[in-house]
Amino acid sequence: MILVFVEIENGAIKKSSQEALTYGADLADKTNDTCGAIGVGSPDALSNLGKFGAQSAFALSGAGLETFTPEGYSHAIHEVANSQNAITIIVSGSYTGKSIAPKLAVKLNAALTTGVVAMVSTDSGYSVRKTCFSNKAFTSVTVNSEKKVISIVPNSYEVKAFDYHADVTEVSIDAVSSIKTKSVSVDKIQGKIPLTEAELVVSAGRGLKGPENWVMVEELADVLGAATACSKPVSDMDWRPHSEHVGQTGITIKPNLYIAAGISGAIQHLAGVSSSKVICVINTDPEAPFFKAADYGIVGDAFEVIPKLIARAKELKAG
Ligand SMILES: Cc1cc2nc3c(=O)[nH]c(=O)nc-3n(C[C@H](O)[C@H](O)[C@H](O)COP(=O)(O)OP(=O)(O)OC[C@H]3O[C@@H](n4cnc5c(N)ncnc54)[C@H](O)[C@@H]3O)c2cc1C
Repeated sequence: MILVFVEIENGAIKKSSQEALTYGADLADKTNDTCGAIGVGSPDALSNLGKFGAQSAFALSGAGLETFTPEGYSHAIHEVANSQNAITIIVSGSYTGKSIAPKLAVKLNAALTTGVVAMVSTDSGYSVRKTCFSNKAFTSVTVNSEKKVISIVPNSYEVKAFDYHADVTEVSIDAVSSIKTKSVSVDKIQGKIPLTEAELVVSAGRGLKGPENWVMVEELADVLGAATACSKPVSDMDWRPHSEHVGQTGITIKPNLYIAAGISGAIQHLAGVSSSKVICVINTDPEAPFFKAADYGIVGDAFEVIPKLIARAKELKAG
């Protein structure tokens, strides 16, 4: 069995998990295997996973699983993986997936492949295409071990509709003894599109001069239904929260559209955003390095260009 870990938020399966599940279903199809889904939550929340490619589902609960910890979750998934004889575990490359995957790989004595961006090729061996060198290049690695843990870069695999029905099995596991960290509190950002899930991102840098000028960045993001991001100095200066910092030392994103205003395009910034499908750069300096990585470039003052984009986006929405 190929077992896909799915994350559930507010009763709904996260988009990055839908992608991982589609990946698992396609891989099962390709290797004559079956695809099961596993998640922590009520059976109800996992009841419709057939439409994302699951042929069976496991709803985990039990002491120690009420709050996310990498140790507790990986312990519980490992138990089910063993009982189901799962040889491949797939997770999304979200924060949660990234923190579970190495622990699972160790427990299962499996090869871990992270940053995966394309379907496994079985033409000669078991070859997986993944990012490397801080997303500046791709490599194909051959996985020789029997057991495998694969984490998929969010937004790199398209969600498909399936016509399966997945019966949900409830599994209760006591994970308390495996947990070595204590979760003191969970602060969730409310009412915003999570950056790692976003298909559209509006980002800004030091060219915006000060935190008070993010009103227009947020307005453009609102009109487009986008998430907001920023460069590292911006979050270092506390103009924006660190959760918005993208780049080599921040979050790696791969949205369909990345709009960057007043960001120079330093290599460390590009490391986190260069896999975006379309990049649009707004900068007063025609020599800004970001233009070399851009699909669309606007040489202009962000304080003039962003309000025009907002007005045009509003017109298009109204029309
Ligand atoms: C080890 C290391 C790790 C790093 N990790 C990261 C990382 O993860 N993410 C990251 O972002 N950086 C990272 N950095 C920092 C990186 O090198 C750059 O210093 C940083 O990205 C620059 O941020 P910026 O583009 O916002 O600012 P600046 O370099 O100051 O660029 C501002 C840009 O705004 C333009 N501009 C000015 N006014 C306007 C205007 N009115 N309208 C439009 N454009 C305007 C300017 O022409 C300029 O291009 C790292 C650095 C190091 C050494």
